[in-house]
Amino acid sequence: MITHEKVIQFLRRNPALSVSILEKESGLPTSTLAKALSGDRVLNQKHLNALYPILVKYGYNEAYNNKAKVISIINHKGGVGKTTTTINLGKALTQLGFRVLLIDMDSQGNLSQSLGIDNPQHQVVHALLKNEELPVVSISEGFDVAPSDLELAYADLELVQAVGGVNQLRNKINPLREVYDYILIDCPPALNIFTNSALVASNSCLITLQPEVSAMKGVNNLFERITQVRERINPELMVEGILLTMVDKRLKVHKDMIDYVYQTLNNFRIYKTEIRINVALKESQIAQVNIFDYDSASNGAVDYLNFAKEFCANN
Ligand code: ADP
Ligand code: MG
Repeated sequence: MITHEKVIQFLRRNPALSVSILEKESGLPTSTLAKALSGDRVLNQKHLNALYPILVKYGYNEAYNNKAKVISIINHKGGVGKTTTTINLGKALTQLGFRVLLIDMDSQGNLSQSLGIDNPQHQVVHALLKNEELPVVSISEGFDVAPSDLELAYADLELVQAVGGVNQLRNKINPLREVYDYILIDCPPALNIFTNSALVASNSCLITLQPEVSAMKGVNNLFERITQVRERINPELMVEGILLTMVDKRLKVHKDMIDYVYQTLNNFRIYKTEIRINVALKESQIAQVNIFDYDSASNGAVDYLNFAKEFCANN
């Protein structure tokens, strides 16, 4: 049955749809949908009946999956923009109207610190080992994080040895899938039990890649690991796409490497939006805020918002 919540979620996931055209085609009074989207009104049954055939025309499906999509941000190389992408893609998605949870699966706790959370009392590792619920800390409206710190580093052996340890993150995420539109998992720079757990819990993974020769080395191992998880534990797991980060087009080596990426990884989606090298991104991490709150006019903010739009268009 079509409901107010399903309509709102459908509209949020399809930002390219014009609400005024939908209102006109379904004969709804002007701004009914705009008000519903901003939370100022609830669509009644008459509205929903009028909207139904129009939304179906634009791809609405009754069996529409209203659970969060879980995406791992992955690359076993460090310093390639995973954490920066998790934070700023996440924040950009909230600006497009989605509810977003970030999960810190790196014991360095960079994600948590970059969001202003130092030494979290409740953290992801307690959910994995002590069967507590995933701790959720609110950063801003519709933008939450499940934090970690160094304590996670000491948990790898215990998690490997626990019965079904690699499934525990997925189990803990499941009840939260009703609450969010996107759950982004920031992975560590290693193919360890934490990365495996993230891949097992995910619908898809997003690979960040810096166009440097060193960054391309070992990329095959990464794809091999994704294939293994898909074949052995999580047949749903897809590769969402490859995001080029810290790109400096003035460098010939970057231009050459991007050509090489397009030649060798052309069976994957490579996002047209590239994240340019931008000092404001580094500064924002030090200032412990996302790039939009740090400097909304910076190239970093522009690139991550454009990326979020491209990302949504493909979802
Ligand atoms: P990872 O999580 O893959 O280890 P990070 O996202 O932490 O990588 O990025 C590594 C470093 O590079 C951090 O200091 C971060 O602030 C900086 N950084 C990330 N993306 C950019 C960018 N596009 N331009 C400039 N600095 C960046
Ligand atoms: Mg990181």
